[in-house]
Amino acid sequence: MSRRPKYLFFTGGVVSSLGKGLAAASTGALMEARGLTVTNMKMDPYLNVDPGTMSPLQHGEVFVTDDGAETDLYLGHYERFTHSRMTQDHNLTSGRIYWEVISKERRGEYLGKTIQVIPHITDEIKRRIRRAAEESGADVCIVEIGGTVGDIESLPFLEAIRQIRNEEGPHDTVLVHLTLVPWINAAGELKTKPTQHSVKELLSIGLKADLLLARSEQPLPEELKSKISDFCNVPARAVISAYDVRCIYELPLVLNAQGLDSLICDQLNIWTAAPRLDTWQRVVKSFTEPANGRVTIGVVGKYVDLIESYKSLNEALTHAGMHHDVALDLRYLDAGVIENDTSPLDDVDGILVPGGFGERGSEGKIRAIQYAREEHKPFLGICLGMQLAVVEFARNKADLEAAGSKELQPDTPHPVIDLMEEQKKVADLGGTMRLGSFACDLKPGSRAATTYGEDRIDERHRHRYEFNDQYRSQLEASGLVVSGVNPETGLVELVELKEHPWFVACQFHPEFKSRPGEAHPLFRDFIGASVEQVVP
Ligand code: GLN
Repeated sequence: MSRRPKYLFFTGGVVSSLGKGLAAASTGALMEARGLTVTNMKMDPYLNVDPGTMSPLQHGEVFVTDDGAETDLYLGHYERFTHSRMTQDHNLTSGRIYWEVISKERRGEYLGKTIQVIPHITDEIKRRIRRAAEESGADVCIVEIGGTVGDIESLPFLEAIRQIRNEEGPHDTVLVHLTLVPWINAAGELKTKPTQHSVKELLSIGLKADLLLARSEQPLPEELKSKISDFCNVPARAVISAYDVRCIYELPLVLNAQGLDSLICDQLNIWTAAPRLDTWQRVVKSFTEPANGRVTIGVVGKYVDLIESYKSLNEALTHAGMHHDVALDLRYLDAGVIENDTSPLDDVDGILVPGGFGERGSEGKIRAIQYAREEHKPFLGICLGMQLAVVEFARNKADLEAAGSKELQPDTPHPVIDLMEEQKKVADLGGTMRLGSFACDLKPGSRAATTYGEDRIDERHRHRYEFNDQYRSQLEASGLVVSGVNPETGLVELVELKEHPWFVACQFHPEFKSRPGEAHPLFRDFIGASVEQVVP
C-alpha cells in the first residue's frame, strides 16, 4: 500500500465522558490486530498549553511520554492499546496552536496579513496533524477531537478535519462519531433522538459521520440500529453498539464482533489479513474469570477521591493481576487516615505509595512505608513514594531522626531528598520538571536486576527532587540497597531492601509503560510477591 497515511477521525456528541479515547484506542488495537501500524493523536480544545500544570483533581492524571511531554491521560490508553509511541506532537491543545500562530505573527512570518481562525489556526492544526502522521510512518493515523460537537471551543479542530477530508481522497479518511443512546426509565425505552440531533449538529458544520458508535448500558437491539440508520443517514451495519463492558480491554472484541474494523478497512480501501485477537481474548478472560483467587493492594495517597488521577497506576496493577490470573482488590487509602491509624493496612497483601506533590498526607505515607518495612508486606514506592521510603529509612534505620525532603520539610537538618541542581534556576512551572525517558543501570544481583532481567533499563520521569548523594554511603551502611543509578548523572533511581519479601522503590514512573498482556516487570513481581502473602 502507499505510504501516505490514512486518517480515522473520532468525534463525540451529546455528552462528554462517553469514552471516546477508549473507543479510538480500541479501534487502533483492531487495526494493529490486522497487521497495520497505527499512530494516535488527541486534540484538546482547552487553552492550557499542556495539561502538565492542571490539577489532577480537575483533569485526572498527567501522562508522560518518552520525549518528556506532559499530556492528557488518554494518550496513556493509546499506548496501552497499541504499540504506537506518543510524543509531544501527539497531543495538541488550542493553547499550543494559538501560541504557535501568535509567535509566528510576532516574528513577522505572516508578512503583515490579518491573522484569522480560518485559515491560520486551521492551517496550523492541519499541518500538525499531517506532520505527526507522516513522521510516525504509520499506515493509519487516529485523531480524537476532544469535547462535544456543538462546543464553541472545538470548532477550529472540526473545521480542520472537514478540510482534511475534503483535501484527501474519498478512501483516505473515515469519520467515526460517538454518541449516547440513553435509557429513559419512565418510558422504559432507549432513545435515539440525542443521537439524531448530534449527527445533525455535525452535518451543520459540514461533517458527515461514516460510522456511529452508540454508547448505551446494554447492547442496542437491531431495530434501534436500523432506526438510527434511517434517521442519521448511515447504513445499518455502520451503527455499532458500544455498550458497557466489564473491563476496558473487552472493547476491541465488542467492536470487532460487530464488524467495525472490516467496515473501516473497506472504506479506506485497505486489504488486510483477518485480525488476531488472541491477546485481547486472553487478558479479558483472566480479568473476568481469574483462576488464582484474589489479592488486595492498598494504595496510600492523597487524591484518593479521584482515581482518574491514578489512571496508569490502576491499569498497571490490573495488567499485573491479569498476568498472575488473580482478581485485584484495589483499596485507595487516605494517607491522612493512615497517619493516625494503620489498621486499614492489616488486611492488604501489598502496599503501594504512588507519586505525588506537596506536604499534605506525606507523614501518613511515611507511616505506611514503615508499616510495610516492619511488617514485611510487599512494597512498591513510585517517585514521591521512593523519596518517602528514603526518608522513612533515614529516620528509623540510619539515626537521622529529623530527616526529610526539602520539598516537604524545607528546614530539615538532613535533606536526604533535595531539589535537583538543574531545578534551582527554574522559574516557570509548566514543562520544567525532569521529564521523560532516562536510562538506569541496575546493580547486578539486585532484586531490580532479577525483576527486569536486564542490566540497563529506560523509564519515564516527572519530578524536581532527588535522592541526595551526600547521604548515600550512610544510608547504604545502614542497609539500604541502591539498585539503580542513572549512568550519566549518577542520580539514584532505585532503592530496595534485603531481608524483606519485596521492597522496591523507584524514582521513575513504571506505570506509564505497562500494557495488557505485557505487564511491567516491577508491577508483575510486586503483585507476585503480594499473591504469596494471601492466606489460603
Ligand atoms: N514531588 C516530588 C518531586 O517533585 C515527586 C514527584 C512525583 O511523585 N511525580 O520530586
